Amino acid sequence: MAERAARGQGAGESSGGATPQRRAKAAAKNGGSTKLPKKSSGSTKFAKKTIALVYDFDGTLSPRPMQEYAFLPQIGIDPAQFWAESNRVAKEHKADPLITYMHLLYKKAKEAGVRIDREDLVAQGRDVELFPGVMEWFDAIEDYTRIRAESHGIALRHYLISSGLTEIVEGTPIYHRFHNVFASEYWFDAYDMPYPKRVITDTGKTQYLFRINKGVEDLGETINEHMSEAERPIPFSNMIYFGDGDTDVPSMAVTRKNGGHAIAVHPPGKGRKKCVDLFHAGRIDFFAPADYRRGSDLFNRTCLLIDRILADIRVAEERWKVAKSAKA
Ligand SMILES: [Mg+2]
Repeated sequence: MAERAARGQGAGESSGGATPQRRAKAAAKNGGSTKLPKKSSGSTKFAKKTIALVYDFDGTLSPRPMQEYAFLPQIGIDPAQFWAESNRVAKEHKADPLITYMHLLYKKAKEAGVRIDREDLVAQGRDVELFPGVMEWFDAIEDYTRIRAESHGIALRHYLISSGLTEIVEGTPIYHRFHNVFASEYWFDAYDMPYPKRVITDTGKTQYLFRINKGVEDLGETINEHMSEAERPIPFSNMIYFGDGDTDVPSMAVTRKNGGHAIAVHPPGKGRKKCVDLFHAGRIDFFAPADYRRGSDLFNRTCLLIDRILADIRVAEERWKVAKSAKA
């Protein structure tokens, strides 16, 4: 696909009209993927200038699990009761908690006599609440990056990795902001009721971090092929992972252990303890209330990490130039 890299006017790649779906389709048409150029050592330009902001959804961008805004009310089930039952069933049967919730959602809908198709799930996305400032965040952080870049070709991408449902995310007003969305998904042509097509568990989330890192975002391609660090288009040091709790620990650990950055958020005015624990455990660089407005602690701390990433990119680019001239 044609890279929508920043050319002077914009560091952000997400503000245009291309949705993650359209981008995936374009990639399939080209017989390729959303791959970035590999092997910067052999090219004429330093290629590792893409910054990736990677977000969890539930509790990070939105206060509650996305199924609580429309799905559960539509089938008349109390969310607390639903999650308690889902956790109990998973524990009792030693079942995967994610598969269990995805199954139970539709089992309950069927029992209630409510049919919820793919289009209905997408429509539910409109009801999902977002934390303050999320709608403006993408432009604001892209503006900041563009102003501070001091280097041509810096691109900023937003990615979503969620155990929630792709279909609901698709209906939210921020869907088009993401370069790619990796979330759980259903087959809707299953015999009796929708069946999990893709389930993204806490540890499974890390696979998608490596897909971003290696530029292998087409889920039809294997991620396990060896790729040297030099060939990977988005180094972990160019990434910031945003999450809200225990389910993000594997992603935070993988990101930070590989030289990347992580920020935890908590609902404004409450739930700070979880973040404090993550901070003391060395899982995160910073934590802040989930207030995404310009000038908030979250905004300022993210900008601080972006400053560091931009400086690291400049150093890496200079070293790349020196290495090239040393060879000549
Ligand atoms: Mg979460």
